[in-house]
Amino acid sequence: MTSNKALDDIRRILGPKGVVASEDASAYLTEWRDKFKGRAALIAKPANTDEVSQILKIASEAGIGIVPQGGNTGLVGGQIPSLDGTEIILNLSRMNEIRKIDTLNDTMLVEAGCILSNVQQAAENAGRLFPLSLASEGSAEIGGLVSTNAGGINVLRYGNARAQVLGLEVVLPNGEIWNGLKGLRKDNTGYDLKQVFMGAEGTLGVITAAVLKLFAAPTDRATGFAALPDLDAVIALLGLTREMTGELVSAFELIPAIGLEFLAKHKEFKSPLKSTAPWYVLIELTSIDAPGTLKNALEPLLEAGLEKGLVLDGAIAANVSQTEDFWRLRETMSEIQKFEGGSIKHDIAVQISDIPAFVERAIAAVTDACPGIRPVVFGHVGDGNLHFNLTQPEGDAPKGTDKDNYLAGWEAVSRIVHDIVDDMGGSISAEHGIGQLKRDALAHYKSDVEMDLMRRLKKAFDPNGIMNPGKVV
Ligand SMILES: Cc1cc2nc3c(=O)[nH]c(=O)nc-3n(C[C@H](O)[C@H](O)[C@H](O)COP(=O)(O)OP(=O)(O)OC[C@H]3O[C@@H](n4cnc5c(N)ncnc54)[C@H](O)[C@@H]3O)c2cc1C
Repeated sequence: MTSNKALDDIRRILGPKGVVASEDASAYLTEWRDKFKGRAALIAKPANTDEVSQILKIASEAGIGIVPQGGNTGLVGGQIPSLDGTEIILNLSRMNEIRKIDTLNDTMLVEAGCILSNVQQAAENAGRLFPLSLASEGSAEIGGLVSTNAGGINVLRYGNARAQVLGLEVVLPNGEIWNGLKGLRKDNTGYDLKQVFMGAEGTLGVITAAVLKLFAAPTDRATGFAALPDLDAVIALLGLTREMTGELVSAFELIPAIGLEFLAKHKEFKSPLKSTAPWYVLIELTSIDAPGTLKNALEPLLEAGLEKGLVLDGAIAANVSQTEDFWRLRETMSEIQKFEGGSIKHDIAVQISDIPAFVERAIAAVTDACPGIRPVVFGHVGDGNLHFNLTQPEGDAPKGTDKDNYLAGWEAVSRIVHDIVDDMGGSISAEHGIGQLKRDALAHYKSDVEMDLMRRLKKAFDPNGIMNPGKVV
């Protein structure tokens, strides 16, 4: 039973603006795929770091669980409380100030509730680039992105969220504030504490602000779309791209034929290419050269790919609108699957060189277990990260019992896929995190040494176990 006095004290600190009324609560208690639902004793929206600190101090003393929440776009249920209704959701969205942009140090200091697209825009207005980019950028917030160590489409060139953060401010579970808001590129003064909170999914403390790294704003961009015969050709073309364009390549994304077939069936869609092929890749180069220059790097790359038999057909976007069309194909890959019924999703990573062997093994194994299953394999192939999603066999009703029956097999199918990932030295969560969805799988696949270290870390930072209970470890 959550202490009423503690909740009343927290309500007083927050004032009416800082508490979500029960009639507005549903948006905070479920996530966009409707996979996770929870209940909460209170939904708190603090206005500043001091309020977060006071809430955590009270919660710690009263033993109340705290579930940090940003834009609620997480895909593993980390931001959704349990169903017992005893926990507090701590939603950071009101803390959305961009505190400072320093173009000489190439950094910006932002609060945790800043929406990513606003941060990108502010960087652009200052003549810089903040390169973190993903399809949820209109809602995902810096606190959530850093806490999940989000990846996205530019990891190949700029790294994931972890690589783009120089400093953090964190409220610890007992209410203490750690000000680690340094904008340093070199700092070897003992343990790098910020790293512990990045990717911790809110289980160790609440991130309230971050110092982000800025980069030169690209002035030229060339985007290509190529058709390829098989995954060996995809990996060889990635190698060729690196050889011929060096660090200019910022995205190299995989799209499967079945994804375009789903698109043609359910949306208005025109392929950039005349021919069809088993696989497609979207390649993007960016630089600070004069607009139009990069075409001269992309054209020879596609030509060399054609000559070597890696590329069957290719197109280069002629203008911004075509570039957006190419990207839309990639970005609708997640959404389009729902029109074909249930989808069992995986977010895996293996070594780039192992991708063809992994896909062949995994497709054979899941087809053996569920004949007719339809793999929709797409994603950040340049990072070795695939969304290995499996749509239910054709003919099953898209809605109703067939879908439910199919999805009931999620755990068994995932075990097959993850066993192969594990056998090949890969990761069962490349970028989405662990949350509730993969908590048991984490314990299954990590070694005893790793699990023991993680549990000891959790105990050291959060001895009363109030931070995001039931998530990750
Ligand atoms: C359409 C779509 C596309 C996506 N594409 C990608 C992609 O390409 N790459 C990728 O990596 N992810 C992707 N995601 C996943 C998602 O956007 C990321 O997980 C994002 O980083 C979460 O940010 P958020 O603000 O929504 O956090 P939330 O979902 O609110 O929270 C996520 C986790 O972080 C914790 N948390 C939130 N804020 C804080 C804080 N201030 N302090 C401590 N902990 C906190 C929560 O407790 C939870 O565990 C996608 C999601 C969608 C819906």
